[in-house]
Amino acid sequence: MKTVDIIVPCYNEADGIALFYEETDKVVRTIPGYAFSYLFINDGSRDDSLSIMRMLSAEHPNIHYISFSRNFGKEAGMYAGLTHSSGDYVIIMDADLQHPPALIPQFVSAIEEGYDCAAACRTTRTGEKGLRSFLSGLFYKFSNAMTEVTLPQNAVDYRMMSRKMVNAICSMAEVERFSKGIFAWVGFQTKWIPYENVERAVGTSKWSFKGLVKYAIDGITAFTVKPLHLIRNMGIVLFVFSLIYALIVFIKTLVNGVDVPGYASIICLLLFLGGIIEFSVGIVGEYVSHIYLEAKDRPVYIIQETDLTGSEGHE
Ligand code: UDP
Ligand code: MG
Repeated sequence: MKTVDIIVPCYNEADGIALFYEETDKVVRTIPGYAFSYLFINDGSRDDSLSIMRMLSAEHPNIHYISFSRNFGKEAGMYAGLTHSSGDYVIIMDADLQHPPALIPQFVSAIEEGYDCAAACRTTRTGEKGLRSFLSGLFYKFSNAMTEVTLPQNAVDYRMMSRKMVNAICSMAEVERFSKGIFAWVGFQTKWIPYENVERAVGTSKWSFKGLVKYAIDGITAFTVKPLHLIRNMGIVLFVFSLIYALIVFIKTLVNGVDVPGYASIICLLLFLGGIIEFSVGIVGEYVSHIYLEAKDRPVYIIQETDLTGSEGHE
């Protein structure tokens, strides 16, 4: 019997957890040769998520939970789940049933084919606003051009991974985690399983537009230093141009004498250069902030309560 841990990060999912368990268990019970257990992560929910987890874990010996001391974000939830998992395989799933349990048998057969990872990708983004879809497309194009890892567009966090791959992911100890990039960075053979986007069963999405923008910037800066190279090159090009321009002005002054007009061109240049300098300092600042946060080496999450033995504390 192979063991599989299903990791479910939850933030205010009280209305959905029981339904999630029911629907998922219906599917996994039909898969022979694998024993499934659940590890719910309560990411500082303000609703009854924790008491529902306590109840479920008291009723079912294969259900466990970890409860954080506050909201640390989905990335921290997934990381806590991965570091506390012990199964031969791990599945990461959302609690809102947007990740259809029906894909699990396909994940299992991909794993049996010899893949280390089977991951879901959306064929449609129905239920998502046009602008959000458009911007996310733009992010993937930009990020794939910028970074060494290729993030497959439409990939979601829903996936099944071998112990080998999970260990590789846990060995990446960065504090600020961008799982989409980490999954791609560790490598291993991944089989992509397409599925149609489904709307949330209950509750609302926890993502704000501002949150998504921050996620995108963090994602790019976590995996490449190319923006730093870009501004260095921009600086070199500007320097060369300004030398040439200075030479032209110098010769013109020698030939024509002092020329007073030129206000417009000076203002334009000033604004242009000011803009570029601000932008560049901003990019450098972004990296400095990451260095700062990594250097502090704070724990990714803090556990307040769990039914797992021997894992109180933090990571
Ligand atoms: N989630 C979490 N911590 C957070 C935000 C979300 O654990 O701070 C969980 C949430 O409960 C859900 C999953 O991450 O199980 C995906 O969140 P959501 O459905 O809000 O994101 P979307 O599907 O809109 O991308
Ligand atoms: Mg969702």
